[in-house]
Amino acid sequence: MKYADFYQRSIVTPEQFWQDESALITWDTPCMQVLDYSHPPFARWFVGGRTNLCHNAVDRWCATQGDKAALIAISTETNTERTYSFNELQAEVERCAAVMLALGVGRGDRVLIYMPMIAEAAFAMLACARIGAIHSVVFGGFAANSLASRIDDARPVLIVSADAGSRNGKAIPYKHLLDEAIALSSARPAKVLLVDRGLAAMELVAGRDEDYASLRAAHLDARVPVTWLESNEPSYILYTSGTTGKPKGVQRDVGGYAVALASSMKYNFCGKAGETFFATSDIGWVVGHSYIVYGPLIAGMATIMYEGVPVCPDPGIWWSIVEKYKVTRMFSAPTAIRVLRKHPPEFMRKYDLSSLRALYLAGEPLDETTSEWIAGELGVPIIDNYWQTETGWPILSIAKGVEDLPTRFGSPGVAMYGYQVKLLNESTGEECGANEKGVVVIEGPLPPGCMQTVYGDDRRFVDTYWSTFSGRQVYSTFDWGVRDADGYYFILGRTDDVINVAGHRLGTREIEESISSHANVSEVAVVGVEDKLKGQVAVAFVIVRHGEQIAAEAGRAALEREILGVVDHQLGAVARPARVYFVPQLPKTRSGKLLRRSIQAVCEGRNPGDLTAIEDPASLQQIQHVLQDCVSK
Ligand code: AMP
Repeated sequence: MKYADFYQRSIVTPEQFWQDESALITWDTPCMQVLDYSHPPFARWFVGGRTNLCHNAVDRWCATQGDKAALIAISTETNTERTYSFNELQAEVERCAAVMLALGVGRGDRVLIYMPMIAEAAFAMLACARIGAIHSVVFGGFAANSLASRIDDARPVLIVSADAGSRNGKAIPYKHLLDEAIALSSARPAKVLLVDRGLAAMELVAGRDEDYASLRAAHLDARVPVTWLESNEPSYILYTSGTTGKPKGVQRDVGGYAVALASSMKYNFCGKAGETFFATSDIGWVVGHSYIVYGPLIAGMATIMYEGVPVCPDPGIWWSIVEKYKVTRMFSAPTAIRVLRKHPPEFMRKYDLSSLRALYLAGEPLDETTSEWIAGELGVPIIDNYWQTETGWPILSIAKGVEDLPTRFGSPGVAMYGYQVKLLNESTGEECGANEKGVVVIEGPLPPGCMQTVYGDDRRFVDTYWSTFSGRQVYSTFDWGVRDADGYYFILGRTDDVINVAGHRLGTREIEESISSHANVSEVAVVGVEDKLKGQVAVAFVIVRHGEQIAAEAGRAALEREILGVVDHQLGAVARPARVYFVPQLPKTRSGKLLRRSIQAVCEGRNPGDLTAIEDPASLQQIQHVLQDCVSK
């Protein structure tokens, strides 16, 4: 089939198109209306239909391939490896669901999951889906304050966690961070369920903390039927950074998400039941939700959950997994591939990778060098795909399952089915022509699978995403882009204060707020600066309150360490800036707005752009001097 025709049908007759796609999943009750868009921009898909994500991911496969692999949990941190068949996965999910029910979790209740990459994390997500509870997974690398703000917003009745994660063989205790986060938050959960991996000591709070192994043992034979949910009931909340310091709870539905994932597994990832999918992300990110847990399982594939780094015990570890489990489709991020490229290719070449059909890369721009290198090594198509936490599945890519269109270096591809992607001129709001730079937007309704709203805040959903252009309600991705004459898009970076470090999305405001809490910080600006390995790194410029501390080099270094420690402690190491520089003033407009983009330009050796509004041009020169000083040392 021609992709252009397929795409056209999804845009011209979306209801028919998605009605057909909805047959890819199992429904308890078919929908009465495919799309309700009577209150734009809120789109309701498959209205009245009843289904369940856990049923589609697990139960429905038990009948036909119950003994086949479903979840393969590999940890090179604890040297453990375990394959759960669909039947075994179902039993574990039912046990976990029974435990949750016993702890008082009901339909619509929130369950916060703060866990390392262990099988129990997937059980917990699927158990929530099974009983209609709304999970909110928080990345294990986030620390107390990040966690507390998510607890406050989601108000979970239960938190599921573990004693510790592990990185590079070193245990990273979770429990004390969790206790601290709960103490900081105003919405204390009634219960905390803890998986004890034996990695770190835990002090249990009587009456609140429960041991997972003991409760599981008490529910070994539990049968918990799935709760059929109306398609538009929320399935999960996933927090993501934006322009303000307060992360947004991206809320997703049940039916639309299941259909979108099933379609993308067919047309984008070409996954077949019985094969193995390997996404190297973490369940704390959207890729983990869509393409570690739900997507592959909905397609009847085995999915690999990997705890560990890509270079331990050696840089061949991922490829040994591909060989051993005959992975057919692999999903990773450009940074990970850049890391592997620094090691001798022999680590990759010694494995039989003939099962692999394609490598999918997403989360950050894919540079030509990395793409060419890995394509050469693997001899399979490298498929870039561009999307966001908000959309849940690719906006731009090449849907090889529809038509084998060629990829183009530097471009994630063309608009995916269901997405009316446009480029608008930032000032006039008019549509851009070929090769003209504009803001990447999507005309409503967003297709199935995309966010329904900001959790608990419909107004914020409309104001944040749909109000960029006056007089025109379109969804803004907050990315710059251009499109060539053939419809291939190129992504040119964010229009807002969000930065992308190794494929992880971070809000510079959040980092600034954290740094500001240090007693000797008067003002701070955080910007994303180009980095060869990670794409971008965060760099902080700080004005101190008391200059004596930074009079000497040793004092500056000590204060930098203290500030980085604050960020580590509050937000987690994932948000830690690469450097902290001390400056006498920060470049601002006359109305007091920080000129972050000018600072970024100076850091990257580019022209800082239009400076007519700057209050004191010397402030940028001072930044230049500080940077030069550090380079020359
Ligand atoms: P996240 O919500 O964490 O997935 O981050 C989404 C953002 O990452 C997008 O808005 C883009 O800025 C960036 N991004 C994701 N995928 C790509 C890609 N394939 N190419 C370029 N940028 C990407």
